[in-house]
Amino acid sequence: MAAPLSEKPVSHQKQFWGRTQHLSRLASLGSLSVILASPLCVLLLLTALSQYHGSFALAFRGLQTQGIQLFLIRGIPALNLQVGMCYSAWVILQAFIYHLLPGKIATGPPTPGGQSLPYKANGLACCTTNLAVLFILFATGIFHPSSIGAHVGELLFVANIYGLALTLAVTIKCYCIGPGARDVRFTGSLIHEFLSGIELNPRLGKYWDLKLFQIGRVGMISWLLLDIAFASLQLQRFGHVTDSMVVVNILHTLYVIDFFIYEDWYLTTIDIAHDHFGFYLAWGSAVLVPALYTTQAHYLAYQPIEITRSYATLLTMAGIASYILFRSSNNQKFRFRQTHGQCLIWGSVPKTIPTTYTTVDGSIHHSMLLCSGWWGLIRHPNYIGDLLFSFCACAACGFTHLLPWSYLIFMTVLLAHRALRDDRRCSEKYGPQWTQYCQTVRWRLIPFVF
Ligand code: NDP
Repeated sequence: MAAPLSEKPVSHQKQFWGRTQHLSRLASLGSLSVILASPLCVLLLLTALSQYHGSFALAFRGLQTQGIQLFLIRGIPALNLQVGMCYSAWVILQAFIYHLLPGKIATGPPTPGGQSLPYKANGLACCTTNLAVLFILFATGIFHPSSIGAHVGELLFVANIYGLALTLAVTIKCYCIGPGARDVRFTGSLIHEFLSGIELNPRLGKYWDLKLFQIGRVGMISWLLLDIAFASLQLQRFGHVTDSMVVVNILHTLYVIDFFIYEDWYLTTIDIAHDHFGFYLAWGSAVLVPALYTTQAHYLAYQPIEITRSYATLLTMAGIASYILFRSSNNQKFRFRQTHGQCLIWGSVPKTIPTTYTTVDGSIHHSMLLCSGWWGLIRHPNYIGDLLFSFCACAACGFTHLLPWSYLIFMTVLLAHRALRDDRRCSEKYGPQWTQYCQTVRWRLIPFVF
């Protein structure tokens, strides 16, 4: 955050803040299995939703009786050219409005390469434009939102091609044209580079950032639009929108709109500040977010679970309380870093651990770790807020089927793994000061457990 203090040689690994620089064959095989398994998991999810009444148990029985080949052939949606053209037009529209609409210019945190990149944070304007276009198309009778829900399989098929093509393009670009940036990481394993990315912040021009575009425009906006589409599909199929669907839509809309309101905060998160741009983020935002994050609304569009009004209110209130934990913990750390510790946390001067870290040019920088407020209780309070929030949205779908809980299961694995990988990265970046922080705030997520 602060200006460099001095320049002196440091260890290679410390300069890269623990990012993988060399990969074993076994780890490459692990990367390959993630790349192959991810589309298959999405296919299983969609097949269970569309052909097996939202039941994994029935889908597995179908898999056993038909055999894997027939099961896959029956599950893969057909390539629909009209759907493909609509999807392509939508992605192009996102690219244009991201480029054209005004927005605050926010600065990202320093990267290992020692850069602080500018970003155009116009997400709220882009999101509002999408909602306005959807409304106009609906009001003029050109397009009914339910048709997005009805064609979700074909849409995701095209999104899959787009996500893979984009990953391939950024990987090939790094090898053929050169990455064109200081923040790159070659691991010696092409498979791992395809999965986890080579460039940290691929961009076109000064502000057009591919990672923010892919996550924030393609991923987050598709989540919101699909949830609306599934509510509309439920209305069309059953003549009413259930309270369970209303709860899911309220909570997810809150999460997505929050993302856009606090877009400058989002620039400081691991996705933008630390994760390189490969299959994980490119394909993940194009396919996994719209497929998995909308599971609850998708499930309810076909299985209209009825819940009592008081249960719906309870879930909404519990969801909002979890959101407050999520937002206030994220805000505490963001404010602390923005003000260089010159702020009050829960009304008191925060306890801090001063730290230093090194960038690739060998410069040493000052920073600090927060040990007060939520961050004095556990090391990832924001993850707990997110998990409780996810629980509330899943609980709207009832407890009879596992499938609508896929999102919570995924988030639990993702965030637990993130907590471990963040520990490793921060300990490389900050060394003994991170150890001191871990001794001060002992537990990652759940006191006395993890
Ligand atoms: P954080 O925002 O918690 O970022 C972790 C980073 O914050 C660390 O690498 C370190 O970075 C810094 N940091 C950690 N502890 C401290 C401290 N005590 N004081 C000061 N700085 C500290 O994690 P994520 O980016 O993973 O998550 C951000 C939010 O996004 C979370 O609420 C999470 O739940 C949510 N999320 C949602 C996902 C979804 O798909 N819905 C996916 C992933 C995350 P530095 O190098 O700056 O020191």
